[in-house]
Amino acid sequence: MPSYVSIAFEANLDTHYTYSVPDALKAGAVMGTRVMAPLGHSQRIGYIVDEDPAVPSGVKLKDILSLVDKKPMITPPLMRLALFVSEYYFCGLGQALKCFLPAPVRHRASDYGMVHVVKIKKDLKELNDLYDNTPERFWKKRNILRCLIVRKSSADQKSPFLLQQLKERAECDLASIRSLEKAGVLETALEQHWSLRDEGAALPNIPPELTESQKLAVSEVLKKKDIFAPFLLHGVTGSGKTEVYLHIIEEALKNNKTAVVLVPEIALTPQTADRFRGRFGSKVAVLHSAQSDKERHRQWWRIKEGEAKVVVGARSAVFSPVSELGCIIVDEEHESSYKQNGEAPYYNARDLAVMRAKLENCPVVLGSATPSLESVHNAEIGKYTLLRLTSRVCASADIKTELIDLNKEAQVASQFGVISRSLKSAIEECLAKREQAILFLNRRGYVPRLICPECYESLKCPSCSVPLAYHKRDNVLKCHLCGYTSEYLPPYSCPSCGTQLKPAGYGTQRVENLLHSLFPEARIGRMDRDTTSQIGAHEKILTAFADHEFDILLGTQMIAKGLDFHNVTLVGVLNADISLNTPDFRSGERTFQLVTRVVGRSGRGAKAGRSVVQSFTPEADVLNCAVKGDWEGFVKKEMRDRKELNYPPFSHIIEIVFKSKEAKKAYDSAKKFRNAIKKNVPRIPGYFYMTEVEEANPSFAFNEYRYQIHIRTTLVQAVAKELLAPFRELLKGRSGVRAQIDVDPV
Ligand code: ADP
Ligand code: ZN
Repeated sequence: MPSYVSIAFEANLDTHYTYSVPDALKAGAVMGTRVMAPLGHSQRIGYIVDEDPAVPSGVKLKDILSLVDKKPMITPPLMRLALFVSEYYFCGLGQALKCFLPAPVRHRASDYGMVHVVKIKKDLKELNDLYDNTPERFWKKRNILRCLIVRKSSADQKSPFLLQQLKERAECDLASIRSLEKAGVLETALEQHWSLRDEGAALPNIPPELTESQKLAVSEVLKKKDIFAPFLLHGVTGSGKTEVYLHIIEEALKNNKTAVVLVPEIALTPQTADRFRGRFGSKVAVLHSAQSDKERHRQWWRIKEGEAKVVVGARSAVFSPVSELGCIIVDEEHESSYKQNGEAPYYNARDLAVMRAKLENCPVVLGSATPSLESVHNAEIGKYTLLRLTSRVCASADIKTELIDLNKEAQVASQFGVISRSLKSAIEECLAKREQAILFLNRRGYVPRLICPECYESLKCPSCSVPLAYHKRDNVLKCHLCGYTSEYLPPYSCPSCGTQLKPAGYGTQRVENLLHSLFPEARIGRMDRDTTSQIGAHEKILTAFADHEFDILLGTQMIAKGLDFHNVTLVGVLNADISLNTPDFRSGERTFQLVTRVVGRSGRGAKAGRSVVQSFTPEADVLNCAVKGDWEGFVKKEMRDRKELNYPPFSHIIEIVFKSKEAKKAYDSAKKFRNAIKKNVPRIPGYFYMTEVEEANPSFAFNEYRYQIHIRTTLVQAVAKELLAPFRELLKGRSGVRAQIDVDPV
C-alpha cells in the first residue's frame, strides 16, 4: 500500500508529479489506477504511474483526492508500453496513456451499460409462506412476492431477472423492492449481461486440414509460444494466412491464454469479424472506431473482465486490456492505417505490437502479401523469422497481366488515355461472359483540378496549397484536404496569367460517366469517399457487388483490400502513375503494393483472370516487377536505392513540422530550433543526418504555413534524449506557432 504515488496527467505535461496518499485511499492506490488530484488551481484526473517513488525529505506534498477506478485500468506490461511510447514518440506519459483507453471507457464509469438484476434468496416454500402471511393491505409487497414465486417456478432460470421487469410486473416502486431486500428475501446487483445483446453470432466454421506450408508456419510459431518471437508471414492473398492465424490462436486459447488480432480499419467489415467469431464464438471481442460509445465500452469491459479472450480490432486494439497474452497477429502489416493520425502520439500499431509482444513474452506474427520494407529488412538481418506461403490454397486458373502504355493510346484518341483499347475489349469480353470487373482509380471527384493551358497553374484551395477538385453531382469545387467547398461557377481565370482555366484529368465520377457511355448495358457501381460517407454504405456496396447487382465496380484504394469476389475475372488499374508520382521516398513501394494487390483481386474463383495496368511511364521498374509478380526483384532494387540514400529501413525519420498562420513565424521557429540543437549533434551516437528547414508537403494546409526539419537516425531514443528533450521549450506552442513531432512518418 503506497504512501506516495507519481501521477501523470493526460494533457501534454512533460513530467509527472508526486502526491501523498491519504490512509483511506491506500488500498486502491495501485499503479494503473486513475485518481483525482489537485493540479494548479483545478482538479484533474491522472494515472498512477509509480508507487512510492523517492520523495525528497522535507517537502510537503499534496494529497490525492479520490480514486476514479475501482481497479487498475492499465496492466503492468501496458504501463511499460506507455513508457516506451512516451520515450520513442516523444510525448508526455499521460498523453501516451490517453490513447490506451477508448474515450467511452475514460469518460464513463465501469458500470455504464450494466443492468440491475434481482436474485431471489428464498426457496419456493418460504416465498409461499411469506405471501400467505402478508396482509392484503400490503398489496405491493404481495405483488412482488407473487412475481418472485412465478419466477422461481418458471423453467427459465438462465436469463437474468431484471429489476426493471420486476418493477413493471409488480406495479410497484423501488422502495418496496428495497424493503424486501433489507428483509433478506431478495438481493439486487449490478451486472454486465452480454447475452442480453446479440454478440453477432456467426455461422461456425470448421477448420480445414492445413496444407504442408501452413502446418510448417503454425509449428514454427508454436515452437516459440511462450517467449517473445517476431515472425513475418509472407503469402499472397488467398494463400491461407488467416487460417494460420486461427490455428495459432486456437492453441493459445487451449493454453488458457488470449490473443490480439490487428486488422486495418477498412478491413473491419463484418466478414472479417465473422471469420473469427465463427471459430471462437463469443470469446471474440471486436473493437473499432465506428462502434457506438456504448458498444465500445461494453466490448472493452468484456476484454478487461476476461470474458473475451480474442480481440479483433483496428490499430488501437494493440492497447487491449487482455492479460495472459498468448500471441499478437498483425494482418496486412504494411498498411499505413496502422499509423495514428489526427492526435499525437503518432504511433504505429504494427511496431507497438512487436514491442508489446516483447513486454508480454509472446510471439507476434506480421502477415502480408506485400510486406513493408521495414519488416523485410528485419527479416533479412535476422530480427524476424520469415515464414512463406508460396501458393494460393484454392489455385485458380492463371491470371494474365498486361501493362499498357497510355502515351500511345492517348495519341489514338483522348478517351483511350483513360480506358485503353485493350481494357475496353477486356471489359466487353468480361460483360459478355456475365462476369464482373473491378476498375481502380485513386482519385475521387469529377476532375481533379482546373488548370491553366498557358502556364499550368491550377486553382487552389484558399486554406491549403492543394488544387480544388470539381464534383459534378453537387456542382461544387472541393478541397480533398480540408473539405472546403464552394459552388462551381465557371469560367475561372488563372490566378497567375488570367487565361481561362480548363478542367483537367479524370476522377472516379467522370470515369463513371465515360463507362456508362462506353458500355450502356453495364450496371456500374462506384465506391469512393463520396459514396461511402454514411455508416454501412461501404458494406452495402460490397454486398451488392458480391450479389452481382452490378457488373463493374469502380473505386479508389478502398477496393484494393483483401476482399473475395469469385465472379471477378477482370481488374483494371486506370492510372498507376498517380501513386508513383507522389513526392515521397515510399511512392515506389506503395505503387508496388497497390498494383500487386489490385491485380490479386481477379481470378480468385475457378475462372481465369485478367488484369490490365495502365500507365504513362510503363518503363518504371516498380510497375514491371508488380505485373510480373516479381517480389524479390522489387525488394532487391528498392533496398539498394534506400541503402544508398540511408532512407528507412536503414534509418528512422523524425519529422518536426512547425505550423503557423504566418509563414515567417513558422520558418523562424524552425530555423531557431535547428540552430539550437546543432551544437548537441556531435553527441549523437549512430548514423545521423539533418535536413535544412524546408517547406513541408503541402506547404500550406488548414490555413497554416508549414516548415519542416527531417532528422534521419539509427537511434531514435538517443535523438529524443540529446536533441529534443533539452530543447523542449522551443517545441512548445508559443506565439502562434505549433510544433508537431512525427517519428517514422508514413
Ligand atoms: P489469406 O488470409 O492469405 O488471404 P485465407 O486464410 O483467407 O488466406 O485463405 C483463402 C481461402 O482458402 C479461404 O476461403 C480459406 O477458407 C481457404 N483455406 C485456407 N486454408 C485452407 C486449407 N488448408 N484447406 C482448404 N481451404 C483453405
Ligand atoms: Zn483546403
